[in-house]
Amino acid sequence: MQSVIEILGKCEEFFAKKGVPNPKIDAQLLLAKAMKCKRLDLFLRFDEPLKKEVLDEFREDVKRRAKREPLQHILGSVDFCGLNLKCDARALIPRPETEELCDIIISRLKENPPKKILDLGTGSGAIILSLKNAFQDAECTACDISEKSLALAKENAELANLNASFFKSDWFENIGGIFDLIVSNPPYLTEKEVSNAEAEVREFDPPAALSSPEGGTKDLRKIIKEAPKFLKKNGILALECGIDHPTMLKDENRENKDFSSIEIIKDFSGRDRFLMLTRA
Ligand code: GLN
Repeated sequence: MQSVIEILGKCEEFFAKKGVPNPKIDAQLLLAKAMKCKRLDLFLRFDEPLKKEVLDEFREDVKRRAKREPLQHILGSVDFCGLNLKCDARALIPRPETEELCDIIISRLKENPPKKILDLGTGSGAIILSLKNAFQDAECTACDISEKSLALAKENAELANLNASFFKSDWFENIGGIFDLIVSNPPYLTEKEVSNAEAEVREFDPPAALSSPEGGTKDLRKIIKEAPKFLKKNGILALECGIDHPTMLKDENRENKDFSSIEIIKDFSGRDRFLMLTRA
């Protein structure tokens, strides 16, 4: 009978050989999933004999991870702004940068909470559900062009017990109404960046959620162009962008009278990442 420690050691070695980025942590998280415990509890149960069902589940999960399927898909969920969101191949895995965008919006708008919020290209629903959680009185709407991602977002709304309306739209195509806040994390990578990305991103995130033509800016430009029609005076458009985009998009919009200010905000690694535009 192998001990927890021995199993973890072997799995870590196997993952390292397969090029899995964080072999130790991933081995621990997958064994904790099979043992239905927290990662750190593994070390309190280090000499426990493992049941066949536990080992079978672990082996299946290890095979999937060795093929570089993202850990979040195998675990089936991800923590995002204090919510536990279901996560699978139907939508982009919510990223820490996007969590940061939500935190920035929440801290800046808490004195004057938005009443109507729109999330464009909602994917798993991560942004709109975090904002609804922070601004409980807001009327929240989210859209996506992908029916699959809308199904996942609705499941997440139900699981989190948060109320938002979701519908299919290609950006603003089917949107009506005027909002205090429009948020989006659109696709903004170039094809080349996607082909250089790690296997987890390249092979498992939905391609349509990753890249955009025109050096990654086509969708960002479209949103910036059309958003003013859907924003109240002093309303905010908050966007996650690729690192070269904020300066470029701000420069391009210097003469744009629809916005009274355009602010570039850095992410936690100090890279230009977000744009906050205020409707004139
Ligand atoms: N942030 C994604 C990545 O780094 C790119 C696509 C997006 O979030 N809009 O893979």
